[in-house]
Amino acid sequence: MLLINITGVVQGVGFRPFIYKLALEEKISGYVLNSSAGVEIKAEGEEKYLETFIERIKNELPPAASITEFIIKKCEDDNFQNFIIQKSRLNDEGLTFIPADLALCTDCLKELNDKKDFRYDYSFINCTNCGPRYSIIEALPYDRPETSMKNFPMCKTCDNEYKDPLNRRFHAQPVACHNCGPHLKLLNNKLKTIKGDPIEETIRLLKSGKVLGIKGIGGFHICIDGENKDAVKSLRQKKNRPHKPFAIMCQIENIKEIAEYNIEEEKILKSAAAPIVILKKSGNFLKNIAPENPNIGIFLPYAPLHYQLFQNGLKFLVMTSGNPPAEPIEKNEEKLTKICDYFLTHNRDIINKCDDSIVKFNKKEMQILRRARGYVPTRIKLPIDTIPTLGCGAELKLSFSLTKGDSLLMSPYFGNNGNKTTMDFYLETLARYKKWFNIEPELVACDLQPDFSTTKFAESLGLPIKRVQHHHAHMASVMAEHNINEQVIGVIYDGTGYGTDGNIWGGEILMGDFKEFERVYHLEYMPLPSGDSSIKNPVRLAYAYGLVSDCDMNYLSDITKLEKQIINKQIENNFNLFQTSSIGRLFDAVSAIIGLKSKISFEAEAAMALEFICSKDINLKEIYNYRIENGIIGVREIIKEIIKDLHSGVSKDFISRKFHNTIIDFTVNSVVKSAKKYGIKKIVLCGGVMLNGIILPELINILELKGFSVYTNRMLPPGDSSVSAGQTLVANSLREGV
Ligand code: ZN
Ligand code: ZN
Ligand code: FE
Repeated sequence: MLLINITGVVQGVGFRPFIYKLALEEKISGYVLNSSAGVEIKAEGEEKYLETFIERIKNELPPAASITEFIIKKCEDDNFQNFIIQKSRLNDEGLTFIPADLALCTDCLKELNDKKDFRYDYSFINCTNCGPRYSIIEALPYDRPETSMKNFPMCKTCDNEYKDPLNRRFHAQPVACHNCGPHLKLLNNKLKTIKGDPIEETIRLLKSGKVLGIKGIGGFHICIDGENKDAVKSLRQKKNRPHKPFAIMCQIENIKEIAEYNIEEEKILKSAAAPIVILKKSGNFLKNIAPENPNIGIFLPYAPLHYQLFQNGLKFLVMTSGNPPAEPIEKNEEKLTKICDYFLTHNRDIINKCDDSIVKFNKKEMQILRRARGYVPTRIKLPIDTIPTLGCGAELKLSFSLTKGDSLLMSPYFGNNGNKTTMDFYLETLARYKKWFNIEPELVACDLQPDFSTTKFAESLGLPIKRVQHHHAHMASVMAEHNINEQVIGVIYDGTGYGTDGNIWGGEILMGDFKEFERVYHLEYMPLPSGDSSIKNPVRLAYAYGLVSDCDMNYLSDITKLEKQIINKQIENNFNLFQTSSIGRLFDAVSAIIGLKSKISFEAEAAMALEFICSKDINLKEIYNYRIENGIIGVREIIKEIIKDLHSGVSKDFISRKFHNTIIDFTVNSVVKSAKKYGIKKIVLCGGVMLNGIILPELINILELKGFSVYTNRMLPPGDSSVSAGQTLVANSLREGV
């Protein structure tokens, strides 16, 4: 007999019925069950059948499943009479499993479009391979009465399918049909029902330029016809979003008209998580959707009702998160009536709101920019043992992480600030996570920054508290993902993080492990006048950076006399002035110095403009001279030379290339020196700046050629969402007796 233990994405994805069916076909007896680690199978049968059974498990996986570990042990026969699906077995830690939401599968899509099918045109069709999961779960165990499907008792047909282990709908909790399941409704913005077929009417309204709120899986989308210029314009006004790119939902066969994609990107687009994938635009199509941006975020329809919208000539839908400005995604219509003209909604409640995930394939690596629908609450296995710990996170890209034993569970993305509504969403989700995963924190970790909402929350808990330096937490998040529990060199490049010296860090080369770190190199401190306001006005940074670099900054336009006077005084008197080593701010300053972006309307807009303009000619190897002294990487010389180049008519795309080359050069130099000094071969690259499409791939190339092993965030985002994860590991290593 064989005992088979499989880990990976194997629960809530139709794995047990798949095994059951294979066992019957291969004349195997025994059982299959969900364990806390994955799936356990006991298989008895003739040698040749056992062999094909195992081969077929590996080769014929259900579409949403994937295997990370496949362990086979031989043991004594138990003389099973038949093959059964046994009750789930959980381990002592009681860490249960909650599946992520899954995009509509191809079998269900076929049925949705098949006039003869029982569920033809049913907007909530699903099976064990697809459908909502995380977003509809109230409590555990994950059974229908504990989900928002509890209001829809199954009809006879659905119930029969649900109970049949050979059926694709065996134990699919959200299974439903026209007769017994949820239904669509169309409302106007007074929330009065509109007569007619909701889908047909929605298509008609979209085509006439209306803004629709569409209730999907994890919340509302605000939707317009992407080919309707006026609609795009009015949506930008209504959402107070002048430049930030919108994502487009379209069918796979239409993507080629607007963007390019490779095999890797196609795989991600079609994956069960169905995230928004950042692709390279092609042609000049839909200019105002992602203005001044060579890329565009594209995702495939993932709920059945999305597919139903692509009819009567609708090809490209702008689908943006349904949230009022600066607030998290909404699951009800009420707060969206000012933005939307109509609502395509339904009566299946969303229990756990969950935004669309955003990913990018950065030449070599898949990176997750926003980790939410389809990826949460997937568990991450840790390299160290932890006590129940809560990592409260940072402030931007808000998230929390909970750990217990060797497991880490990170929340979805909540929003990009710590305001009241975002924190409410955070707290509500935290309460659920604690209950689901049976984790009552005994230790809490937070940022060093005392003003963060998350820090204040951590302090309010009355638990032992560890304050973790922001960039140390970033570095630890990568180590955790890659199972590294030893000293590494970390390159952490981002916008803002409170340093141990009270300054604002963000261009850091650290050496350390989970427990402690040494700041080996960092960017020279530069002035950050009145904090936040200069982050939104890069021209003020440009002025200040130029000034302290002994440059004449009078050439700068887009800055008033008064602004200049204030900054002069701030620098002179060192008043209301922060010092920062942030590389994100350096990008902002350079972007404004060469006249790309003086003001920004969304995060990283100026830095992205600088990246986008960068010459694609990789044979341009020139760099700006820089100096490294006592672990400080000089910035003033670089600024001075950039301004000199600008005045002598050097093109902006060339300046940008030279600037990017310079960053890569000083990074490699500092890493090589640090690695030699400490005898370390493992290099960690993280922080939001690692989303840059030039810096990350080139750093990886060069460092690997030099014989280093390079690690980056994979399952967690390189940006501040991962800070909560890193915090839990650092805090655990700082515990007494560890
Ligand atoms: Zn399906
Ligand atoms: Zn039914
Ligand atoms: Fe950060």
